[in-house]
Amino acid sequence: MSARISASLVVNDSGEIACMSCGHALGPSGQPWKNAATLSKTPLQGAAGEPYSNAANVLLRKFYCPSCATLLDSESALEEDPFLNDVVHI
Ligand SMILES: [Zn+2]
Repeated sequence: MSARISASLVVNDSGEIACMSCGHALGPSGQPWKNAATLSKTPLQGAAGEPYSNAANVLLRKFYCPSCATLLDSESALEEDPFLNDVVHI
């Protein structure tokens, strides 16, 4: 039995957070998983048009499954900010 924890992530039978599309495990449930994902960083400026044109220092981070490249999560942050870790307890 696996438990769905977001639109793209599940906790599998072994208690690991895993990609819902391919089952690739990203680490134990209850721990931050983003370090195990493939990270893409894009300046937010220009990414979303005029409303964000003053956001010169803001990055759009996208976290992809390293196995199947499904987009798992995204966040906007300054370069020096740590990852926004959602720790899920079930
Ligand atoms: Zn995957």
